[in-house]
Order: sequence, then C-alpha cells, then structure tokens
Amino acid sequence: MGRLDGKVALITGAASGMGASMARIFAREGAKVAVCDLLEEEGRAVAADIAAAGGTARFLRLDVTEEAQWEATLAAVLGAWGRLDVLVNNAGISGSATNDLYDTALWDRIMAVNARGAFLGVKHGVAAMRRTGGGSIINISSISGVVGQERIHCAYNASKAAVRLLTKAVAVQEGPAGIRVNSIHPGVMPPMRTSGATADPVFRAKMMQHVPMGRPGRVEEVAHAALFLASDESSYMTGSELHVDGGYLAS
Ligand code: NAD
Repeated sequence: MGRLDGKVALITGAASGMGASMARIFAREGAKVAVCDLLEEEGRAVAADIAAAGGTARFLRLDVTEEAQWEATLAAVLGAWGRLDVLVNNAGISGSATNDLYDTALWDRIMAVNARGAFLGVKHGVAAMRRTGGGSIINISSISGVVGQERIHCAYNASKAAVRLLTKAVAVQEGPAGIRVNSIHPGVMPPMRTSGATADPVFRAKMMQHVPMGRPGRVEEVAHAALFLASDESSYMTGSELHVDGGYLAS
C-alpha cells in the first residue's frame, strides 16, 4: 500500500530540485503525478524516470504566471485522470541573483512567479478539488517568508510571506469544502537554478552559522514533509506551516 494510492497530484516547478524529488516520491507512494514546469527537457526526463520505475506521470508545460495555461493544465489533468487530490505550488525564482536590491522590474517578476503563480494555482486547484469533495494544497514558502535576510531582494521575502498568509486565508475559507492548505518553509537547501548570493560558498557558510543542525537540507527532506501533508496522515492539519530548516527559525 502506497501512502498516496489512488490520488492525483500536480506539482509545479517539478523539473528540478525539490519539485522533482516530490514528483518521484509521490509517484513511488502510488500517486499519478502531473510534472509541471517551464523546462520541457528536464520535466520530460523526470516523468520518464518515474515511468521507468513503474510509476505514473506525465509532463505538462506550465508557466505558473499565465492563467490561461493553468486552465489548460487543469483541463488536461482532469481529462486524463478525472480528479485532482494534491496540488503543490512549488515553482519559484530566487531573489539573490542581483546586486540591486531595489530593482523594480525584479520585484515585479519575483512577485509574478512566486506570489501570483501560487495564487493562480490555489484558484484553479480549489475549483478542481471541489468537484470531488476536497484535497490538499501545499504551498512552498521559505524561511524567507518569516524573517528577512541580507543580500536577497526583499521581493523574495515579500512573495514568500504572501504565500504563507495566502495559505492561512484559503485554509480558513476552504475548510468547509474539505480542502486543506498548508505551507512548507525550507531553510538552507541546495541552491536554486536562479540563485546568486545564496550559491556563493562564503555567503552560505555565513547562513550556516544560523542553522543549529550545522548542515544544509536535502531535497528529499522537504519532499517527505510534502508527502506527509499530501497524504491522509495529515487529515486534521490545515493552515499550518512546517519549518524544514534544521532549526534556523528556532534560533
Ligand atoms: P529550482 O530552481 O531547482 O526549482 C524551481 C523550479 O521552478 C525550476 O524547475 C524552474 O524551472 C521552475 N519555475 C520557475 N519559474 C517558473 C514558472 N514561471 N512557471 C513554472 N515553473 C517555473 O529551486 P528549488 O530549490 O527546487 O526551489 C523550489 C521551491 O522552494 C521554490 O519555490 C523556492 O523559492 C523554494 N525554496 C528554495 C530554497 C533553496 O534554498 N533552494 C529554500 C527555501 C525555499
């Protein structure tokens, strides 16, 4: 028995990093997985790996900032598998690739992907889940959604804080519909594709001084937290936040 047997999951940003780890682990636990990303080659490779391991997955190209693409993606998932049980809003871009921490265009881009993208996912995910009586939405925020940091554009913190409270607002509103909404706050992880300062070994060593466990996290450590929230094991949890950060926010 898999922990997600019979469930259909859609994961954004699933072509790499934590999203790809979630896709593999969810499929291993019995879910049918829609691997959604901008990156076609990498996304198709993740779906092919899952199929080769005996799981069920398909790649769907999705730019999370485009509402029409969300509509088409949900239509494809419902058309193929008839339901949506789990949505992970994981796609994101970093705020550490610039030295201009007041770049206005970057504010707009980061908010578009990280905050608007999650909002659109929630909007269309809720509509799909209502058809079958509920589901679990998992929003990937960050330690940066709770506290500020140096050398990171404030839009990253603001976008991740938006994701944190989007989670709680929708949890309250959709509780009666059986839709649970929770956030995960990863700490220092392998750098994002779009990382700048946070990929710099000197900066990472400085951040590590604030991690009581003294090491960065592994992608599967976040994916397993997502697995718990996706499964019925977390059936009474909504509006909550899981810090997967080696103690960063506790110190
Ligand atoms: P990553 O860069 O490896 O993965 C992000 C994925 O999102 C990529 O595959 C990328 O193509 C995709 N993406 C970007 N813009 C998109 C768009 N408009 N539409 C669809 N897909 C898009 O990074 P990761 O470390 O796996 O990050 C996953 C999530 O975790 C992000 O939301 C990130 O902000 C968050 N996070 C990361 C860290 C870290 O240190 N790596 C820490 C805390 C939180």
